[in-house]
Amino acid sequence: MSLPEDTTSLVRYRAAASTLWLLLLLVWESLAPAIHAFRSRGDRGRHALRNLLLGGINAALTGLVFVALWSWTSAWAAGNGIGLLHVVSLPPPLRWCAAILLFDLWTYLWHRAGHRLPHLWGFHRVHHSDASMDVTTANRFHAVEILISSVLRIPLIALLGLHMPEVVLYETLLQFVVQFQHANIRLPAPMEALLRLVVVTPGLHRVHHSRWQPETDSNFSSLLTVWDRLFGTFRVREDETGLRLGLDGFDDERQQRFAGLWRMPFLRPGPPTSDEAARSRAPGPPSG
Ligand SMILES: [Zn+2]
Ligand SMILES: [Zn+2]
Repeated sequence: MSLPEDTTSLVRYRAAASTLWLLLLLVWESLAPAIHAFRSRGDRGRHALRNLLLGGINAALTGLVFVALWSWTSAWAAGNGIGLLHVVSLPPPLRWCAAILLFDLWTYLWHRAGHRLPHLWGFHRVHHSDASMDVTTANRFHAVEILISSVLRIPLIALLGLHMPEVVLYETLLQFVVQFQHANIRLPAPMEALLRLVVVTPGLHRVHHSRWQPETDSNFSSLLTVWDRLFGTFRVREDETGLRLGLDGFDDERQQRFAGLWRMPFLRPGPPTSDEAARSRAPGPPSG
């Protein structure tokens, strides 16, 4: 499969920039972790390796198959005048903004579906079962979840009439913000408050990764926070004391290994630990 030259260089640039950003955030987390510390360097290394391996498989899947399909779809839609942004003619700056907003609205709705629909949740919970969330968690998605979302991008690109540079720009912005929001870092409060006016911050996304269901069912936005505000799912937690990350029933070491993460969508939750049982009986947000 061959891609247009400009798409190939855009994809390469995106991969290089995203790797550099990952390394910077890894250093930041090492110097000033926000919430938890791994028991040992070995634990942190194993955790990172599992997450990055999953991410590597997903990157290969999208890079080798889907980028070409998206590119062909985009060229086909442009050639035939198909899709919203070909029907509604906008000046270039407005067209770029509309493309980013519409794509991001789709990502918000897809994320909500991942929590709402039981079969999709089976795959998405691989991402949520990480009790030691850090920047590598941004890569921790089951390949089937990535496969389904990549397939759905094909009709999305046609329906919206997106150009390939718009797709690559959105994916690049998304990857940057998704890595940032998973990083185990704490921003100075004024910066966190300012940034979350526009994009999803680490403080906001940690709330989404909380074990407490009302918090899990909030902050579904991936890039822009406007969708959570618009659909009433925006939730701020100023004090992170007692915030517990991960997913009850999926803490067992065997489930957390690489093979366990692959099997996780098909497994039932394990029995609650005594700690989990005590928390589920307690009203309100979990503490301690
Ligand atoms: Zn989620
Ligand atoms: Zn996440």
